[in-house]
Amino acid sequence: MGIRVRFAPSPTGDLHIGSVRTALYNFLHARHEKGTFVLRIEDTDQKRNKEEALKGIVDGLQWCGLHWDEGPIFQSDRLDVYSRYAKKIEESGRAYWRDDPGKGRALVFRIDREKIAWDDLVHGPSARDISLDPDLVLVKSDSFPTYNFACVIDDHEMNISHVLRGDEHLANTPKQISLYRALGWEPPRFGHMPLIMDPDGEKLSKRKIEKYHGIGLPVIVEECRALGYLPEAIVNFVALLGWSPGGDLELMTLDEMIEKFTADRIGTTPARFLVDKLLWMNGIYIRKCPIDRLVELTRPYIESTYGPQPVEKLREAVRQQQERIKRLDELPALTKFAFAPKIEYDAKAVAKWLTADGGRAILGDLRAELSELRAFDKAAVESVLTRVMEKHKTKLGNVAQPLRVAVTGGTVSPPIHDTLAILGRETVLARIDEALKL
Ligand code: GLU
Repeated sequence: MGIRVRFAPSPTGDLHIGSVRTALYNFLHARHEKGTFVLRIEDTDQKRNKEEALKGIVDGLQWCGLHWDEGPIFQSDRLDVYSRYAKKIEESGRAYWRDDPGKGRALVFRIDREKIAWDDLVHGPSARDISLDPDLVLVKSDSFPTYNFACVIDDHEMNISHVLRGDEHLANTPKQISLYRALGWEPPRFGHMPLIMDPDGEKLSKRKIEKYHGIGLPVIVEECRALGYLPEAIVNFVALLGWSPGGDLELMTLDEMIEKFTADRIGTTPARFLVDKLLWMNGIYIRKCPIDRLVELTRPYIESTYGPQPVEKLREAVRQQQERIKRLDELPALTKFAFAPKIEYDAKAVAKWLTADGGRAILGDLRAELSELRAFDKAAVESVLTRVMEKHKTKLGNVAQPLRVAVTGGTVSPPIHDTLAILGRETVLARIDEALKL
């Protein structure tokens, strides 16, 4: 039988970046070993509706391209299984009922009072002395199983062979091993991955979400999407938060990661989330992205700002900006001149390039020549600019800038032929006429 791993999130509503990493490493491990990846929802202490609980997780995993083979299995559907095992452990004498004053009775497991050792996939030979730890609650006074109990039962029943999870579970592992022993079961192989730190060197936390937002650091998958990160950039970036294939290799497709992933290359020191690196990577994936897909990905950003747009115009905008943007959400501001129905004139630019000496005369000549052109291609627009420049015995900038201010309202836009091309003939001539009246 091949290996079997699982991703077992507690459904908190969203998929956190740390959970993406856990899911990804387990997914990569399963695919590398041609094994099975199980999705299990640990919802025994969530009083939520199942579909709602699942939505953020499923949407997030699918967006990242992390597809599972079995599940989702809900722990809340398996309460009878846990009761059965609770009874069995109680009958064996390893667990006892304890009164929780004011709450009811809890079933408590007598853990092994010794040093528990295991060979960690990441940390290597590990051991923890749990002889002074309190006994382990298996069933809470509300009669629901605890995480530690349900997790052991399920990992065993689902034949899970490897468990990759965060270092925050290091304290649970020896207690879980103790439970496996009491049940006469072989524990899976455990591997614990390092914490993810934020740029301040603190543990990445949802509580700092506002601060992170300000620097473009996404904490949950939904934010990654909203900020205009591509899934392949997020997956590649998250893969490197604690794992490295060795050498300098950083940019990898999911298939390359599958080929290279081994748990023994997961590091033991906390990984730091560096936003600049994510931005750099996202920029690279934007440039690699086929234009048709990029148009569809950017459409919501443009249309939520400026309303529905013809696909050809979107395509032209994307083509013009693909090389320079690092996040898709930069696009609306950069293409305002093209999509906003009315332009706003920058008073300084107008004073300097249009109403100052010569500006209007240059613009009038440009209008006459441009209205003769069939298409605003690069060569045609450049020859118009050159002719007008020569006529006025001036520099190119003194011709291009009045035109740019007239058609965009300001002095910054893509190269002038691109600016004219995206606006199209009718708009260009109308805006020039408008500007001539200023
Ligand atoms: N539901 C647990 C968590 O989200 C799973 C831990 C584990 O992988 O055992 O932390």
